[in-house]
Amino acid sequence: MLPSLSGTAREPPARPRAAPGSGTGRAALRARAGAGSGRKGAAMSGRFASVNPATEEVVGEARDGTPADMDAAIGAAREAFDAGAWSADPRLRARCLRQLRDGLVAHASELRELTVAEAGCPVFLTYGPQLDAPVADLGWFADLAESYEWSRDLGVGAPMGMTSRRTLLREPAGVVGAITPWNFPHQINLAKLGPALAAGNTVVLKPAPDTPLVAEFMARIVQQETDFPPGVLGVVTSSSHALGAQLVADPRVDLVSFTGSTATGRSVMASAAATVKRVFLELGGKSAYIVLEDADIGSAAAMAAFAVATHAGQGCAITTRLLLPRARFDEGVHAAARTLGKLGVGDPADPGTVCGPVISAAQRDRVESYLRLAVDEGGAFACGGGRPPERDRGFWIEPTLVVGVPNSARVAQEEIFGPVLVAVPHDGDDDAVRIANDSPYGLSGAVHGGDEERALAVARRLRTGTVGVNGGQWYGGDVPFGGYKQSGVGREMGVLGFEEYLESKVVATPHGGQ
Ligand code: NAD
Repeated sequence: MLPSLSGTAREPPARPRAAPGSGTGRAALRARAGAGSGRKGAAMSGRFASVNPATEEVVGEARDGTPADMDAAIGAAREAFDAGAWSADPRLRARCLRQLRDGLVAHASELRELTVAEAGCPVFLTYGPQLDAPVADLGWFADLAESYEWSRDLGVGAPMGMTSRRTLLREPAGVVGAITPWNFPHQINLAKLGPALAAGNTVVLKPAPDTPLVAEFMARIVQQETDFPPGVLGVVTSSSHALGAQLVADPRVDLVSFTGSTATGRSVMASAAATVKRVFLELGGKSAYIVLEDADIGSAAAMAAFAVATHAGQGCAITTRLLLPRARFDEGVHAAARTLGKLGVGDPADPGTVCGPVISAAQRDRVESYLRLAVDEGGAFACGGGRPPERDRGFWIEPTLVVGVPNSARVAQEEIFGPVLVAVPHDGDDDAVRIANDSPYGLSGAVHGGDEERALAVARRLRTGTVGVNGGQWYGGDVPFGGYKQSGVGREMGVLGFEEYLESKVVATPHGGQ
């Protein structure tokens, strides 16, 4: 049976007109953005263009969902949750998730090209968190749906003299509204759909206006290659943010799972309060990379530089503040600047590229405004500092290292979301911890030191959801990810992430002939 997906997916979206990034040589890719505007998301009668940020060429057009589409998708999800078998059948859910995983794997090469073209991400990342890893993780959530302890005996108690057996039941929360950004579209879409669907919820997904095509592609696989029942998963693409706000406000939605900026997260939380909805928020970051005095400064600073150049710094957990021991500050700055200069920018379709374009002209303008601010705040550039002169199409920023500003400067406090690293000196472990924690955010971090125990002691004092020590990598479908402070509420992925989508009910029955 082919389910009729709600919202945009009710009518199968057309295949993208063209897909890959620049340099692939396909004639089909030559369609230019309307009037050379290079504007992401320009609307065209019921459809809107998705633009390749490396070339400004139109990758394809997505359906421009309307408030009526969103209304229908929510209604279908409500109906599927309340009246369907989905919420009570973990085996069906596991089967559908495995079918989705297998469908995505079968189309991996098309999706890889499309993701590089639409998100501008370096192709090497699609072999990890930009595609292959989150697709594989769907299997982990399918397994969890089958193995999870949905009912747990809490033993016998005798409140008020009435001996009773208490049983804890874990149940799906209901209809989930999932709202996602553009920077890691598969990772974030699937890190919500996998656990939310495995847990028995029905979901309406509103992907970012900058990356609708990869979401439509997935919706098409759901529709054509899986047994997902009608209404269980609706995907509503739109050029407008307003459909996200509509999803949050709708009383038929039980839980909102949002990833995006802290500013939008605040408005989601405020709007959800009107209907006392549960909210799960993955927000911004300004994570610190701490280099201790006993570290190999050269390699630590080079690793920090590599991290900030990756996908042009457009990752919430990327470490964007480099905290160097004061006595060896210049040494660290030179090493980081050398690495950033060598990496430069490149065609994201090239397997050797680390730093591709930023997503849009608006994002480039925003990063440039922070570069001007860095100078206004007394800073200087140890490398980069503007657009690469050799690129006349696309949205590019050179990998940049800012020095000469304190941690209190706005460029060291605010999320830039570009390939911009700010180096700040520290005076020992306590000072490094103080500076790292002196941030409204608390998403991630890294510590590099010669003595692992000492580095671990520093890591334990960071108020962040994840920390890598001496190059340790924490990312994985089985690992909970999320932030302290204004970086979010709750955890995504892992068992903790799965449980974000569950309600708890305790049932008590008389025990022992009372
Ligand atoms: P954004 O907040 O502008 O948009 C995110 C999503 O929210 C989009 O789908 C958008 O259409 C929708 N939206 C916008 N206004 C809305 C509203 N009022 N109500 C409901 N939905 C609304 O973020 P972005 O620019 O797409 O993404 C970049 C941001 O995302 C960065 O701040 C980054 O740190 C953050 N991010 C966080 C994580 C994480 O896991 N913590 C991961 C990736 C990105």
